[in-house]
Amino acid sequence: MSDVNPSCDGSHCVDSKGEVRIYSLGAGGNLHLCRACWAHENWYRKGRTQDYLKMANDMCQRDNDDFYKKLKAEAEQNWPQLDWYAAPNPNVLNEGAAE
Ligand SMILES: [Zn+2]
Repeated sequence: MSDVNPSCDGSHCVDSKGEVRIYSLGAGGNLHLCRACWAHENWYRKGRTQDYLKMANDMCQRDNDDFYKKLKAEAEQNWPQLDWYAAPNPNVLNEGAAE
């Protein structure tokens, strides 16, 4: 939980009243993240993907496009970067449920 934005599950908030949206973790889990934390999570996932692909590249030793593509798809599935604009706002969802 964040000290800055009580509605946000992240720790990189810059605005105590910033909007939060639902960041799906897959497997039924999700986080409520503000814009700054959302960006940080995507940045983190991008780094994980790049680390994974670098490791895969180092392991391959020689060009193997099919193998690399397979690993890239796997990495993108493991650490998908989510689109803020496509994500639901939990407050809007709650209002909808109350009706
Ligand atoms: Zn936050």
